[in-house]
Amino acid sequence: MPIRILPPALAAQIAAGEVIERPVSVVKELVENSIDAGASQITVEIRGGGVEYIRVVDDGVGVPAEEVPLSFQRHATSKLDSPDQLDHVATMGFRGEALPSIAAVSHVTIQTRPHGETAGFRMALRWGEPLESGSEGCAPGTTLEVAELFGNQPARRKFLRSAQSETARVQELVSSYALAFPEVRFRLLNDGRASLTTPGNDQPREAVLAVYGSQIAENMLEIHAEDPDTGYAVEGFAAAPSVSRANRTYMTFFVNRRLIQSRMLSFAVEEAYAGLLQTKRYPVTAINLVIPYDEVDVNSHPAKREVRFHNDNRVFSLTQRAVRAALVANSPVPSLAAPSNGFSSFGNFPSSSRASGVVFPASSGGGAKAPDIAGASGAEALSLLGRPAVPLRVVGQLKMTYIVAEGPEGMYLVDQHAAHERVVFDRLLKRREEMVPASQPLLSPVSVELTPSHATTLQENLEAIATYGFQLEPFGERTYLLRAVPSILAPDEPGKALIDILDMATLEGLTRQKEDVMAASIACHAAIRAGQSLTEPEMSALLEQLERTPNPHTCPHGRPTMVHFSSYHVEREFGRR
Ligand code: ADP
Ligand code: MG
Repeated sequence: MPIRILPPALAAQIAAGEVIERPVSVVKELVENSIDAGASQITVEIRGGGVEYIRVVDDGVGVPAEEVPLSFQRHATSKLDSPDQLDHVATMGFRGEALPSIAAVSHVTIQTRPHGETAGFRMALRWGEPLESGSEGCAPGTTLEVAELFGNQPARRKFLRSAQSETARVQELVSSYALAFPEVRFRLLNDGRASLTTPGNDQPREAVLAVYGSQIAENMLEIHAEDPDTGYAVEGFAAAPSVSRANRTYMTFFVNRRLIQSRMLSFAVEEAYAGLLQTKRYPVTAINLVIPYDEVDVNSHPAKREVRFHNDNRVFSLTQRAVRAALVANSPVPSLAAPSNGFSSFGNFPSSSRASGVVFPASSGGGAKAPDIAGASGAEALSLLGRPAVPLRVVGQLKMTYIVAEGPEGMYLVDQHAAHERVVFDRLLKRREEMVPASQPLLSPVSVELTPSHATTLQENLEAIATYGFQLEPFGERTYLLRAVPSILAPDEPGKALIDILDMATLEGLTRQKEDVMAASIACHAAIRAGQSLTEPEMSALLEQLERTPNPHTCPHGRPTMVHFSSYHVEREFGRR
């Protein structure tokens, strides 16, 4: 066959294939146009999964009558007019491809009336060919109707799923936009029935409530983090781990409120939830990244589903930290989930975040003074005697690793290492705030030789590490003289302790603030280990110390310090309920 230029209708169909894959692609493009038009109300109606019929009605600025035919030409847009604007795209659309692509594969009717005009304009097209047009009375705004989608492309139509599954995609999409644009009132009608209505009152939490219902909405934690130096910010919601899902579709991401898919962002969020969800469970989040327009390339995917970031690392770590911070600040006690096969399924969180108040109810009024584990040094730390009045009663020790305790709400397993880590960590931060590093001089200085990566970590954290009680002097290229250690550490093998701590700090350094890294690493090193046998007074003292920390339910790395087995579940396991 000789080379020929494709007939325009066929070329248009091929090009449309990239933009319009299925009904939800049409809805996405139309909703984005309505948003760009400044609409405050957007109604989406579909029938037969959108294959039969789609209608999107908005009250946005409308299109002047004389521009309507042009809007169906390929590469016709009112949103860009010079190449340099492509670096600062603030609108959802900019490619000028949606309307012609939709028209090429369906029957389209547009009715539109700019505010201030007395009459509107109507135009109908069939497989991209204009049929009829003329003025028509209609409300200000724009209505697009799309019927017979892929009627001229039987192959494409065959690839569609059931109406039900195409409907589900449309519902997900409209829900996502409703979350990102709480100031817009969204309505979705499916086969005549309202399936979503948002208030459009600019209250993000009410949009969440409308989309997800009260059970999830109540467990949604607000995320907010910004970096004023760079203009980056992360905002949105992340669900408490009690409302996990079995797949990733509930992780929704926006960049400057543009709905996108990003494996990197999913990964950042999953990292933030590390240790809080069981394997194969995924979080529910709706996260918007605010990024300077010129630091994100939106023109990298025909359906605008993906973007490229100029600084992947910054995006990743800001997102991960923002979500983690929200989770740690609100972490409840993990609780035994309704067990199907005995106790093997614990690790879930209770369904209400109010559970964080459950563990230490009796103690808030003070009571007998507990021995100060964290303040004592090294091996001496746990040899304290005296039974504090703890609200959790120690029952025993399991595998020399977990403290078994009883509380008002049932049984608790406390990870002794994680719990002590939390106690030491908080004590270190407090001492730093009070500017009293508790330092313990060594009888004779010890020289420590570091690997290049440890040396770098040390140099970067020299100040932080001094604030916690280390005294170090450079002694050759990568050798240091250690003169004092934090009094929280056992003074034997101080060099090894320093290297251990640098090891941990190097691993963690990417995701935390510098001072916290050092404190977390020192705490981890100083804390009692798993496998260490504890006496009952030691265990009680530890629980009492833990209770006094502001975040008793997670260790400084964010892992849970305790797991809760509610009386209800225990009784149910024994058939008493
Ligand atoms: P793009 O959104 O990339 O500009 P489209 O093909 O989606 O391209 O739309 C073409 C043009 O039609 C838009 O630039 C806009 O001027 C106009 N338009 C489309 N939909 C609407 C709408 N709902 N309200 C107002 N104008 C619209
Ligand atoms: Mg568009």
